[in-house]
Amino acid sequence: MSRLEIDWTRCDGHGLCATLLGAAVELDEWGYPVLRGREITAGEGPDARRAVLACPALALRLSRSVNR
Ligand code: SF4
Repeated sequence: MSRLEIDWTRCDGHGLCATLLGAAVELDEWGYPVLRGREITAGEGPDARRAVLACPALALRLSRSVNR
């Protein structure tokens, strides 16, 4: 399982991540992403990786969750 993380020092609020992965990311009223705070499902993995690669500011990444 994995989670999306945003580097707020880089994010410019382009909103592309919400366009590519609307099930996991929405935009606030200023166009900045709000993560829905849940794990990325296996089925969302390809779209999540596509969103990470497409982020023009290199602000988005996928981190592995550790289940304890
Ligand atoms: S695509 Fe990247 S820069 Fe644009 S809103 Fe998402 S995280 Fe921020």
